[in-house]
Amino acid sequence: STGVKDSGFTLDKLEDEFLSGLSNNTISKFLKELTLEPHVAGTAEDLATAKYVFDHFEASGIVAHYSDYSVLLSYPIRRSLSLHLPDGSLKDFTLKEEAVEGDPYSTNPKVIPTFFAYSPSGTISSEVVYVNYGREEDFLTLKDEGVNVTGTVVIARIGKIFRGDIAANAAAAGAAAAITYSDPFDYAGNGSQGYYPSSQWLPPSGVQRGSLFLTNGDPLTPGWPSVPDAERLEISQVQFPKIPVLPVSAQDALPILEALTGKVAPQEWQGGLQLSSYRLGRGPAKVKLSYEGNLTMAPIRNVIGMITGSEEPDRYILLGNHRDAWTFGAADPNSGTACLLEIARGFGNLLSLGWRPRRTIIFCSWDAEEFGLIGSSEWVERNLNLLASRAVAYLNVDSAVGGPNFDGRATPQLDNILLEVTKKVKDPNSVYGTVYEAWSALNGHGTPNIGRLGSGSDFSAFLHHAGIPSCDIRYQTLYPMYHSLYDDYNWMERFGDPMFHRHVAVSGIWGLLAIHLAGDAVLSFNYANYADELEVIFDNLLQASENITANPLFPAISKLRAAAAQLGAEMIQMKIFWLHQVLTDAQTLSKLRSLNDRMLLAERSFLDPSGLTGTSWYKHVIYGPSGKNHYNSQLFPGVCDALAAAMSINNKASWNALQHEIWKVARAITNVAHFLSGEL
Ligand code: GLU
Ligand code: CA
Ligand code: ZN
Ligand code: ZN
Repeated sequence: STGVKDSGFTLDKLEDEFLSGLSNNTISKFLKELTLEPHVAGTAEDLATAKYVFDHFEASGIVAHYSDYSVLLSYPIRRSLSLHLPDGSLKDFTLKEEAVEGDPYSTNPKVIPTFFAYSPSGTISSEVVYVNYGREEDFLTLKDEGVNVTGTVVIARIGKIFRGDIAANAAAAGAAAAITYSDPFDYAGNGSQGYYPSSQWLPPSGVQRGSLFLTNGDPLTPGWPSVPDAERLEISQVQFPKIPVLPVSAQDALPILEALTGKVAPQEWQGGLQLSSYRLGRGPAKVKLSYEGNLTMAPIRNVIGMITGSEEPDRYILLGNHRDAWTFGAADPNSGTACLLEIARGFGNLLSLGWRPRRTIIFCSWDAEEFGLIGSSEWVERNLNLLASRAVAYLNVDSAVGGPNFDGRATPQLDNILLEVTKKVKDPNSVYGTVYEAWSALNGHGTPNIGRLGSGSDFSAFLHHAGIPSCDIRYQTLYPMYHSLYDDYNWMERFGDPMFHRHVAVSGIWGLLAIHLAGDAVLSFNYANYADELEVIFDNLLQASENITANPLFPAISKLRAAAAQLGAEMIQMKIFWLHQVLTDAQTLSKLRSLNDRMLLAERSFLDPSGLTGTSWYKHVIYGPSGKNHYNSQLFPGVCDALAAAMSINNKASWNALQHEIWKVARAITNVAHFLSGEL
């Protein structure tokens, strides 16, 4: 029998009890307490938040422990920037985000200066070129326009791609250094609606901090856990970003862009600064950029809380969120932490009413996400085979609330359960009845658009390295305060979520997912969705070139479709057996366990043990981060990289390499189908 029945709850009653217990008041109190001080990973303030979370788990009846690692972090020591005009005049920038009226947080002297983690140190004095969003295509446009960026300091507006990709593109193009800035077009509603504190938008002095690191986990222990006595690489063996990069504000970018001559930048490159037109340069204005940072071994601390399952204690449903922040972290990430704590409180209440989930629920509060998903990656590396054999699903929330719209991403076998739970949670914006209806309305097709997972948050190690079904949910659109001084409680209370109803909705969806995955006797995974998803490759590949064939994929996907259909039939049969107790208890349990195991373990077969070509850490052949933008999901990453290479190199070896990647994907899909079938 199910844990639900054992403890006298029907599932409906359990859901109602949980949802009705959620409170916007306690969530806002959690958020306020978590965000009183800035808490960058490796600092005493961040350690204090670990204790806060630990104590709350324990007070809720959830057994907690710390999971500590020692990792290589990066902090700023000195930065300076000045503008040198052809007439000999000079302007020094303060590089300071200004305090705003009515926001006491914004005067806190402990806020870390604006910088990019893992930027190399250096001093560069050179002419400037404007490179739009710093994407590959932007650098190609510059080449077409005849602008030589070699040796320059490029200035890019941030916001379309991961900043680490901007840094890599600038270095690849030959730039000597780079500056990023937040253009009002992207971060301030084009500047026409005022700025925080009078509106939600980023003030002119606001800056986006962040990490430039492109791989996941501690830089010195790639693929293995950074426990105290671990093997560690020498710093010289690590691929750090190649050129110094400094983030600046719109206010500081303005005079730099104003001083550029040369061609007028294309229409789509014109931003929202008060300039008659954005020009490309190069120069004649020069900047002198100087950055000094350090690389420091620092202790980091994850907090793990467990509710042990009554029937299947060795099957895990994981809820994860990071705790470390660049500044106060009111949206990123502690809006998510506040929801995690609220779910812990809610589950604590259910426990005191006698509920015990069938499977184990694990709450994970990660550290050092901001530097490169470090806490979660080290924990996955440390526990790899236990997780690979026991984890049912990993449910991530980073910033729970940064804006008005619900956004959900998942591996496809979780699509249905995600949709189902959003039908049970009220629309926090009170426009529609449920989150499901509001989410559907966003794209006008009547059903929600579920996104796929790229990288840039803590699901990455679970999905890409360990092959665990994962999802990531939030209320957001691009939120302007991201990684700035103003990501504080004051902003959240005034603009992000004044009633904290969006936080309640995220807690509801996240908690219901856990209740179902931990409690349903038969897991509700759907692999037919996966087959549908994979079919998109046909469009991409069939016309790619006559030098290759996508033929191996047809039978692979058909096999997956057939296995998914067979599985669906077995699930229905199992639910009937379960309800009517047709088999003896021991037989039912063993069949149930084996059916569920096929569903939860099948995802592992999408991994290539040797990793994607060029990286051994990312192993998932269907989903990976896009090479152009680390945040975006790239379907068939190995195939896409090989396709791009073949298109440009266009020799026999490059087409053969692409064909090999297609075979690899076909084999992985076939392996998943075979595993799902359960037949040797
Ligand atoms: N979420 C952090 C960011 O966007 C870290 C991303 C990463 O290192 O992958 O800056
Ligand atoms: Ca490691
Ligand atoms: Zn975050
Ligand atoms: Zn962040």
